[in-house]
Amino acid sequence: MEKCQTEGCENAAKLQCPTCLKQGIEGSFFCNQQCFKSSWSVHKSVHKATPKSNGDAKYNPWPHYNFSGRLRPGRVGPMRDVPAHILRPDYADHPEGIAVSEQAMKGAEIKVLSAAEIEGVRVASKLARECLDTALRAAKPGVTTDELDRLVHEAAIERNCYPSPLNYYLFPKSCCTSVNEVICHGIPDDRVLEDGDILNVDVTVYHKGFHGDLNETVFIGNVDDAAKNLVRVTYESLQKAIESCRPGVLYRDIGNVIQKHVQPHGYSVVKSYCGHGIHSLFHTAPSVPHYARNKAVGVMKPGHIFTIEPMISEGSYKDEVWPDNWTAVTIDGKRSAQFEQTLLITETGVEILTRRREKNGQPWFMDQLEAESKS
Ligand SMILES: [Zn+2]
Ligand SMILES: [Zn+2]
Repeated sequence: MEKCQTEGCENAAKLQCPTCLKQGIEGSFFCNQQCFKSSWSVHKSVHKATPKSNGDAKYNPWPHYNFSGRLRPGRVGPMRDVPAHILRPDYADHPEGIAVSEQAMKGAEIKVLSAAEIEGVRVASKLARECLDTALRAAKPGVTTDELDRLVHEAAIERNCYPSPLNYYLFPKSCCTSVNEVICHGIPDDRVLEDGDILNVDVTVYHKGFHGDLNETVFIGNVDDAAKNLVRVTYESLQKAIESCRPGVLYRDIGNVIQKHVQPHGYSVVKSYCGHGIHSLFHTAPSVPHYARNKAVGVMKPGHIFTIEPMISEGSYKDEVWPDNWTAVTIDGKRSAQFEQTLLITETGVEILTRRREKNGQPWFMDQLEAESKS
């Protein structure tokens, strides 16, 4: 009969560590649960590191789905809680996540916001920027997208914000993380970021009745030159689109500016997802397509707040959605990049409410390129 492994225990062993059994590690006998628990902190070091999803070839929730590219989903953890003192949007507590207030405003005109409403979105946008920066600072090889989700969620709560994506039409997490061929709406999961990935993190927060929304794409470790070019051109297209905004400009002209910039590089503009009005509602009028010759309705007026968020693909502009009903990927599996800002039309031009307050507003990928050229 084996003896219990716990230091100083002489009893006969009656149980084996279940993790050791599963991993095929021999020995590891204990007399009872109490002894096993008391030995745990020392004993666990004999276990092999638990493989994450990408090392875990067996994990595939949709065995019959034909993936367009190489990325695979990981496991999605439970929804995170938001403390009761934080004001929640209506969909947060709807059983199907329906934004009733948004649906009631379908087809309505673009709202000209009051000074107080503008201030509300201004504050939410600044806080959203801080939450995004927190996540991007931590985006490195070996980190899971769920860990970035945790950082965004906790940063939002610290700032008295509700993370807007959480339960929006039942979206299960607090931000979107879109890797490589994912165009948008990727769900944070336990997949670890790999050297060479490109990652977009999209953050929206709801603070005291107003939303602010932005995203950036960054490099994970060392990426190839094609990825650097895609990300740079995508960012430039957003900048050019923003520079074109002022009172009197037609919303439908934004797409012409974007497509004109990216097309000569051989890139395409995703058509299925658009920029949007944003204030007390997460997504509302105007709809802002990013492709040329669109039929968007409306003229920019002082007091309008909306996003521009071009999604630019290396190959086809066409997208398909994974069986999770959220993750939008390119149909050819080639990569897609995105940048987004929340914008206010002023009397004379445009103000970027979600601008980065450090480094003169420069995006994070440019910090990464600078660091690389110095080393
Ligand atoms: Zn948006
Ligand atoms: Zn967004």
